[in-house]
Amino acid sequence: MTSTLVPRPSVETATGEVLAAVPAPVPETSPQAVPDRDADAPVLAIDIGGTKLAAAVVEPGGRIAVYDRVPTPNNPAMDAEGLWRTLAALLEKLLAEAGGPDLAGVGVGCGGPMTWPDAHVSPLNIPAWRGFPLRDRLSETYPGMPVRVHNDAICLAIGEHWRGAGRGRDNMLGMVVSTGVGGGLILNGHLIDGASGNAGHIGHIIVDPDGPPCGCGGRGCLEAVARGPALVDWAREQGWPGTTGVALAADARRGHPVAQAAMRRAGRALGLAIASATHLCDLEVVSIGGGISQAGALVFDPLEETLRTHARMDYARRVSVVPAALGQTAGLVGAAALVFEATKYWSAD
Ligand SMILES: [Zn+2]
Repeated sequence: MTSTLVPRPSVETATGEVLAAVPAPVPETSPQAVPDRDADAPVLAIDIGGTKLAAAVVEPGGRIAVYDRVPTPNNPAMDAEGLWRTLAALLEKLLAEAGGPDLAGVGVGCGGPMTWPDAHVSPLNIPAWRGFPLRDRLSETYPGMPVRVHNDAICLAIGEHWRGAGRGRDNMLGMVVSTGVGGGLILNGHLIDGASGNAGHIGHIIVDPDGPPCGCGGRGCLEAVARGPALVDWAREQGWPGTTGVALAADARRGHPVAQAAMRRAGRALGLAIASATHLCDLEVVSIGGGISQAGALVFDPLEETLRTHARMDYARRVSVVPAALGQTAGLVGAAALVFEATKYWSAD
């Protein structure tokens, strides 16, 4: 895994010369992440998803100082520029609330797919943006500082590794299971990007070759079995009368046999995928966030049982699977870490 120094923007050279008379404080961690800026400067973190646009001013330790969000416009007439204006207005308002701080950079988690690292984004749930040059537009708006964009599931995983359930562990898979199944992979303490920034796509590990078709064009992927809408579809085929994942989880808690079977089905699929990933990557910990982690033992018990049945190599037995710790803000914290902890989480530039 290579890491890249943040290029020194020319506009900052003069600042550096001025500061040269007074030695700048040395940051405690990752001095290469923000070499030219005040160690206390916050990051503007952005989380772009199908249901909401969220943003925060995040302090160097990962604390969220100011937070705001708006629903993602779902008006079919909304075009690319209209959506951009909605985001830009949110960011302007947020930074005003924060008192207009000098920023160390901008970190973004955005739904995929996207080209990476240049971040021409085409989020599945946001049809207004197809190949939208998100990184370029943010760089024009916030010149002279690093702007870094990654997949939203990867930012969740980074957040959990940096400040959540995977803190202090070097080898972790961070998963999110909701309307889709995504993930990010940390090995030897560093985010693994792969050839195109897509490493860690646990949702498309095959758990049942004869299983349901997947949105990727394949069949029997973990996502096709365990994502919320797939659980609802399966339960309805078995005679369950509801229509939403929330209702399914509530019925499972009340003891509805089909709803409970749907949760077991998801747990087993997750256990199979995690067993394979653990053997392949020698993981210490797997965190699971998203709606399904709310189901608790209804999902985690069959998950553990399946995992222990299949993860049999000595090194794989020690893996622990835990609910994500950070909740709704994990993606923003992870996006901020793309700037604050670049040596660990940002290999491109
Ligand atoms: Zn798939």
